[in-house]
Amino acid sequence: MTTPGSLQRNPSAAAEREYDLIVVGGGIYGVMLAFEASARGVSVLLLERDDFGSATSFNSLKTIHGGLRHLQRLNLRQHRLFVNERRWFLQQFPDLVQPLPVLMPLYNAGLRRPGVMRMALTIDHLLSVDRNRGLPAHRSIPRGTIISASEVKRLYPDVETRGLGAGALWFDACMPDSHRLIIEVLRATCRADSVVLNYVSASDLMTAGGRVVGVYAVDHVDGTELGFKAPLVVNAAGPWSRDVGRAFDRDHPELFRFSVAWNVLLDREALSDHALAVAPSHAGGQVYFLHPWKGRLLIGTGHASRDALSQEPDPSEAELRTFLDDINDSVPGIALTTDDILHVFSGFLPVKRERTTELTSDSSIVDHGKAGGPTGLFSVAGNRFTASRNTAHRLVSRLFPGLADHGAAGIPRDETIGKRTAETGYAYEWWPEQLDASTREMLKRTIAEEAVMHLDDLILRRTSIGDNPARALALAAELSTLFEWDQPRRRQELQRINTHFSWMSTDCYSE
Ligand SMILES: Cc1cc2nc3c(=O)[nH]c(=O)nc-3n(C[C@H](O)[C@H](O)[C@H](O)COP(=O)(O)OP(=O)(O)OC[C@H]3O[C@@H](n4cnc5c(N)ncnc54)[C@H](O)[C@@H]3O)c2cc1C
Repeated sequence: MTTPGSLQRNPSAAAEREYDLIVVGGGIYGVMLAFEASARGVSVLLLERDDFGSATSFNSLKTIHGGLRHLQRLNLRQHRLFVNERRWFLQQFPDLVQPLPVLMPLYNAGLRRPGVMRMALTIDHLLSVDRNRGLPAHRSIPRGTIISASEVKRLYPDVETRGLGAGALWFDACMPDSHRLIIEVLRATCRADSVVLNYVSASDLMTAGGRVVGVYAVDHVDGTELGFKAPLVVNAAGPWSRDVGRAFDRDHPELFRFSVAWNVLLDREALSDHALAVAPSHAGGQVYFLHPWKGRLLIGTGHASRDALSQEPDPSEAELRTFLDDINDSVPGIALTTDDILHVFSGFLPVKRERTTELTSDSSIVDHGKAGGPTGLFSVAGNRFTASRNTAHRLVSRLFPGLADHGAAGIPRDETIGKRTAETGYAYEWWPEQLDASTREMLKRTIAEEAVMHLDDLILRRTSIGDNPARALALAAELSTLFEWDQPRRRQELQRINTHFSWMSTDCYSE
């Protein structure tokens, strides 16, 4: 017996019916669109070329922003949006999203002066008085404040004390298991009359008389070509939205001008239980975030421009070296080298102008019908995980204006989430010598109920085993025995894991 919201993967059965909406792309933007539409009674089919949430959405810094950055740029509309979205994520995911205190040491320079920051935090407070509406006290967002230099030193013992004037302390939120959050939103979507398929890529648009009637697609598991029917299609393929737009209609460059961004997981313990916002001493240095992710040090975000979409969004060696130099300059005594890197999380981000790193300030939405293309085709590309639900909400209201909008839709609480994530490596240190019978049973259920097609789906995106690269490599061979694969297939699957963890000096054990 399967539990409600199981992700049942059956592409040919899915091709036998018609839908109200097809969403192309199973990153957080496509997933939130499918969820928002299905919450209003729309039947949705979501197609994802690889695994759900395996591209940009896998590589974020796992922060739900509260909008302070937008306030500093005087973008009050975006500030409000982020305040509301932080509250929505905190309300909906009690097991997966928590308040995250952020500390910025202040050195009386530029905008990072106590007076300027005090004013910014006061305005932030006044413009977000409803930020905790509906949240229990232990999950609420306190008012940001200025703290003394000695308090900064207590929270962050290794801080550079020369010239330290004070510290700014504010709260964002974090989602340590963001991959699991995506699966929970998909499960909520599948409780309604909707279908989600991984490893199926949309290849072309089906039209009749200038109107959308569906998409052609390829099932990458068995190579079958399929046709899926719906009068509305949203291309939410993130960095590939221009490729999909070109295949379906024409290129819309405004959707996505390319840059790359990355975070680095280091073989170091977190320097504080607060996230630290630090900047190098040289003029114009950007602010970096040292995220205390599961007690480890996850640092981001590095940015570099790119002319076009490349195969992989990885930073070059020179870009990584400059990034580490900046961190070494920002954090006294940390002395990082590339040998400390366990993993680089990287992805493409949309920028305002080509060959720059200035991110777009809002999502882009294109109505292809209005621009001379097929009626019923839309494209969307966003720049923040945090803004994905709001973008979905706006677009669904536009696509289905006649349907009642009951406000922000909710995620049904699955009481087993906390238990499931805890048992499958939620904590970085969880490391069983061998998987016991009940863990194996639970993992087998996950494989059966959550469309697990590859070993890395299980290790990286259904459980949190892959958060700790050494643990993932050590357990991979044993985990592969949960599947009914022959020896060559097992080797292929283990090789995929080795490729993912290319920064590690060891490989999976394989007989
Ligand atoms: C280094 C980094 C750090 C970040 N940190 C944060 C953060 O802390 N907080 C925050 O709010 N945001 C953050 N972001 C931004 C956030 O991660 C992105 O805005 C978001 O993940 C984009 O989601 P998406 O669904 O548009 O794209 P993606 O996640 O890339 O999804 C697009 C999907 O479309 C699929 N696809 C492509 N072509 C096809 C096809 N033909 N058929 C079917 N499927 C197709 C792809 O396989 C892919 O899975 C960060 C981004 C980066 C790169």
